[in-house]
Amino acid sequence: MRPPALNPLFAPLSTLPGIGPRLEKLFGRLLGRDDERSRLIDLLFHLPSGFVDRRNRPKLSEVKPDTVVTVAVRVDGHRPPPPHRPRAPYNVDTSDAAGSMQTLTVTYFNARRDYMEKLFPEGEVRYVSGSTTLYDGHLQMVHPDRVVDEAGLAALPLIDPVYPLTEGLHPNQLRKAIAVALERVPKNLPEWQDAAWLKRNGFGGFAEALERIHRPQDPADIKPDSAPWSRLAYDELLAGQLALALLRAHQRGRGGRSGRGTNAAGRLRERIIAALPYALTASQQQAVADIVADLAQPQRMLRLLQGDVGSGKTVVALLAAAHVIEAGRQAALMAPTEILARQHFATIAPLAVAAGMRVAILTGRERGRERADILAALAAGEIDLLAGTHALFQEDVAFHDLALAVVDEQHRFGVHQRLALARKGEAVDLLVLTATPIPRTLVLTYFGDMDVSALREKPAGRQKVDTRTIPLERLAEVIEAVARALKEGRRVYWVCPLVEESESVDLAAAEERYAELKHRFGATVDLVHGRMRGPDKDRAMARFAAGETRLLVATTVIEVGVDVSEASVMVIEHAERFGLAQLHQLRGRIGRGAERSICLLLYKGPLGDTAKARLAIMRETDDGFRIAEEDLKLRGEGDLLGTRQSGEPGFRVARLALHGNLLTAARDDAALVLSRDPKLTSPRGEALRHLLYLFARDEAIRLLAAG
Ligand code: ADP
Ligand code: MG
Repeated sequence: MRPPALNPLFAPLSTLPGIGPRLEKLFGRLLGRDDERSRLIDLLFHLPSGFVDRRNRPKLSEVKPDTVVTVAVRVDGHRPPPPHRPRAPYNVDTSDAAGSMQTLTVTYFNARRDYMEKLFPEGEVRYVSGSTTLYDGHLQMVHPDRVVDEAGLAALPLIDPVYPLTEGLHPNQLRKAIAVALERVPKNLPEWQDAAWLKRNGFGGFAEALERIHRPQDPADIKPDSAPWSRLAYDELLAGQLALALLRAHQRGRGGRSGRGTNAAGRLRERIIAALPYALTASQQQAVADIVADLAQPQRMLRLLQGDVGSGKTVVALLAAAHVIEAGRQAALMAPTEILARQHFATIAPLAVAAGMRVAILTGRERGRERADILAALAAGEIDLLAGTHALFQEDVAFHDLALAVVDEQHRFGVHQRLALARKGEAVDLLVLTATPIPRTLVLTYFGDMDVSALREKPAGRQKVDTRTIPLERLAEVIEAVARALKEGRRVYWVCPLVEESESVDLAAAEERYAELKHRFGATVDLVHGRMRGPDKDRAMARFAAGETRLLVATTVIEVGVDVSEASVMVIEHAERFGLAQLHQLRGRIGRGAERSICLLLYKGPLGDTAKARLAIMRETDDGFRIAEEDLKLRGEGDLLGTRQSGEPGFRVARLALHGNLLTAARDDAALVLSRDPKLTSPRGEALRHLLYLFARDEAIRLLAAG
């Protein structure tokens, strides 16, 4: 139950004066709450993007053109547009209220006469605020931001915040709503932050922070690195860390099943390692050791295995599975796509079978009798390791004795999904594999409940990919280069652009390119895309892997995990439209074999700054961790983890690139709080419950109740 003190903040915006259905809709769009009703708290967390300084209040005779001023003028007369030219400007002649000879023309377009006469009554003094220009030697102000009388002037803020807007919403409507919302912030909220910490950082209270950002006295208060903004950011980060810590405590508390490997001598693992055609890297060995140690603990394992594309996570997952299987239990390996699941299976199965494990695959494609047989064998404990897609976690899939779930690709398996799994109460050890290296701040933010192993070295024999950027105008040359590569017997990926969020548009572009290349190169060209049926996709991939086709035109379905080590050339069309992480993922498909690999990034100019920076980074480095850090700087955290799409609560106030340094403190704080007060029942614990609601992390509170 939400603490009642918060009720005013969670009242819908329609309870504010003047906000009817039309405005409510606009506010919903502005605040990103199209689907649900916007509440006062959403409005209050809509923070300014800048400000206008209204402290500059010269006499009219001292005004310099092209500055923002607030001046006192006397209204001399109106010059509405002549009847035959209704689109001409509406001018109001004014002069210096202090008595000098200086005049100012106030100009409006599309103004209504009755409205203007009310705004500028003839003979009276008004204060106009806005930027001035010199037009034809006359001082002019076009569409003042503010026109007020004496009383209005007294209320005019010296520092006037400017907010992001949405079409159809007037700044004044937003300003008014925020002003009323501020009045309704409860004064009796308990302080959830530690008093000494606040003092040390020069932070005030929650209500004060909102007040200082929305009604600033000092322009510095409006910046995201100001004390009030940082206070709110810390609130938000702490809420996130607390939720993750609660999740962790909950999941760990549900562990305690013995026999996940404590009685395994590691013989199965040794057999697999002996069968590998290569030696494990030091970080692979370390990761396996981390996992084995976790499995010996009474708590459940929650581990994230981070590693760049091609760093060899699959074999680590297999060894983890071998460990629980040797103890007589089962493991599941879940991949995000059909292609990936099959590929995993193809890699793993021979090794697993050689070591004496019984393996199977289950995706949406196994149906009817086949599926029934798999499910029966699984329930009977006759399958040790089951690979598959999310079909693995469908309701009718029952394991005999599942001990370990390995989930490949973290993007689709965020905090929400982990919460869902936690609520199912399945006491399964969890290993999450992520192919996108995640910056440390984001690991803390989104995986703060998990332990982390990282594969930092690349397996021996990996080569740096020679990466070049080429304008699309030189497409003909690129096709010639591809012709040479094919002649040398190389295998080539040709990745087609992400035109829009629409798959059909992407597909049209890919099919067109395919037709063109096929015309030139003949039967050696093939096409694979996301709309193809699973078996067709697999066959296309298999033909390419076998060298039957050697130029594969693809949409981004090859992005994750596909492994054809003979491919050594990649062309990416419209590289400027891809994100950095995505480019990195794609490029990781080549440079896996002995051959020197080359990646051609075709772009269409002119490039924006961000796109330019992205392509430069791609040329410069292939270190996934470095690329991830740069990506964070360029894009912000929401896009990086795909949280926008997944419905994860993103950040409203905190800017990770800026407030990342507060994250470690928040993590420590959360851990300390829960070690002293695991059920959040102390006075500070009660106060922190308020915080979880304010920042939409209250789902975690339900875990407390579930115990
Ligand atoms: P990813 O981390 O992207 O999932 P994979 O597990 O698919 O990477 O491994 C990529 C390739 O590297 C596979 O062909 C795998 O057999 C190979 N590989 C894995 N570990 C090593 C190693 N230690 N030495 C050499 N090759 C390795
Ligand atoms: Mg992989």
